[in-house]
Amino acid sequence: MLRALVLLLVLASGAAQALDSVTLQLKWRHQFQFAGYYAALEKGYYRDAGLDVKLIEATPATNVVEEVVAGRAHYGVGTSELLLARHQSPVVALAVIFQHSPLILLAREDKIGNLHRLAEQKVMLEAHAEELLAYLRKEGLRPESMRILPHSQNISDLIDGNIAAMSAYSTTEPYFVRRAGLRTIEFSPRAVGIDFYGDNLFTSQQELSKHPERVRAFRAASLRGWEYAMKHPDEIIALILARYNTQGLERGMLAFEAGRTEQLIQPQLVEVGYMNPGRWQHIANTYAELEMQPAGKLPDDFLYSGAAPQPLPTWLTPTAIFAALTILALSFLVQRNIRLSRQLKLEIAAEEDANRKLARQLQEIQELQSRLQEQAIRDALTGLFNRRYLDETLPRELSRAKRDGYPLALIMVDIDHFKQINDTYGHSAGDEVIRSLSTILRQGAREGDIVCRYGGEEFIIALPRMNVEAALVRAEKWRTEVEAILVRHGHFDIRFTISAGASGYPDHGTEHENLIECADLALYISKKDGRNRVTHFNPSAESI
Ligand code: GH3
Ligand code: MG
Ligand code: MG
Repeated sequence: MLRALVLLLVLASGAAQALDSVTLQLKWRHQFQFAGYYAALEKGYYRDAGLDVKLIEATPATNVVEEVVAGRAHYGVGTSELLLARHQSPVVALAVIFQHSPLILLAREDKIGNLHRLAEQKVMLEAHAEELLAYLRKEGLRPESMRILPHSQNISDLIDGNIAAMSAYSTTEPYFVRRAGLRTIEFSPRAVGIDFYGDNLFTSQQELSKHPERVRAFRAASLRGWEYAMKHPDEIIALILARYNTQGLERGMLAFEAGRTEQLIQPQLVEVGYMNPGRWQHIANTYAELEMQPAGKLPDDFLYSGAAPQPLPTWLTPTAIFAALTILALSFLVQRNIRLSRQLKLEIAAEEDANRKLARQLQEIQELQSRLQEQAIRDALTGLFNRRYLDETLPRELSRAKRDGYPLALIMVDIDHFKQINDTYGHSAGDEVIRSLSTILRQGAREGDIVCRYGGEEFIIALPRMNVEAALVRAEKWRTEVEAILVRHGHFDIRFTISAGASGYPDHGTEHENLIECADLALYISKKDGRNRVTHFNPSAESI
């Protein structure tokens, strides 16, 4: 019995020793970007494949290809740049995880409404942003026309407005700018048909030739991990928070990243890990267009072929083949349906977006309209009503006075020897005097009085429910106030006086034109009699 137990223990430890230790060099620090590998570890997929896998984080200085080719790591997470690296380094692409690249140009909406506004602007581009360069080139933007700066990897540069745009990952940076309340636009090279793959899994030719079985097992377990992660994103987020949170990320950020990652991996549409030689060729052609490598066909040994489908086993009967074909046709229909409904959702979102934009524009137009309306009836220098407003309102005020049987007085005010003020102290001093007078008039007016700058230095005040006698008292008060003040302008203290004339409904007329005429005539008498005085209209003086 004891011997059997010892034997079991020895066997078990032997099994543990049999695990093959391998390392996977990530291309950045832990985040949802590597979800599938965490899942493969956590769910025991690697262990089941006989592998003891270590994940290694990257720093901005890490060259993943170099780590793998030099044998410091067995496997690496790479980008489409692997195509360029293969000229010097014998590498093999094992699987594509991200069917689309997350690389975008993230731009401040206030500075870059459309891509062409980038000219003359400060833009931070990371190294290896070739797909963005190709994109800008296709849009007719030369890199020399922009002020391209090295990437600080600090999102605050965009948020604080030090730069107008930066290269970014659609899976991460947009989260931070949104949280900071900054409105941005995401420009993707896909807009012009440049559709690079995102993250892939690769190894060296050496690893493949020496350990083909290990490569197959590592690849299969990793993809199993990715499939699990795509189905259980919340579980993986919790796992990252608990075990891998070296960046101190918050749950909201990881959830955002998970959502965006799913859009790039497209697990419902494409089998995780699938590589299309045509897509790789498209990327190679883009590099060739950018003169980063010679044009030509991709070498066969760049893409891993160990995952090629096995020949059909002989036991497959025609019935099974028929069933398989039926399932295939059905799954095609289902996928098409999924794709169509996704597209529909996207289109509906775009419409909703257009509605919001329209509502905002409408509100802006309404605000502009009310501002214009206000400007149309106000005098810019003093903020008082203008002549146009008085001409429109006075007839209305008069009909109301007639209907309700109350008086209405008009006072016309003109600054004395104003030309001299302008000539002596300058035009801006004259403006200051006009503003001081308007303040005095406004302060002495009641609610319902209409105080208006009628012309250059002439004012008319319409006073509903006031007779001419009371208006004279009011005008006299204004006159003495003006006489008493000093207007400070630069080094000068300016004194000035006003003359005024008053008329009133019903005593002097019933229509607004002749009431204004009467006030003007009374003002004329004030001027003639020596200025700095107040006169009411007197019919017997009309002939003067
Ligand atoms: P009087 O006592 O007879 O009214 O003499 P006056 O010099 O005031 O003569 P008048 O009323 O004819 O002169 C008005 C002057 O006001 C002429 C014009 O140059 C000046 N003026 C008109 N509008 C403005 C303005 O907005 N700012 C300034 N600074 N001057 C103005
Ligand atoms: Mg004057
Ligand atoms: Mg005048």
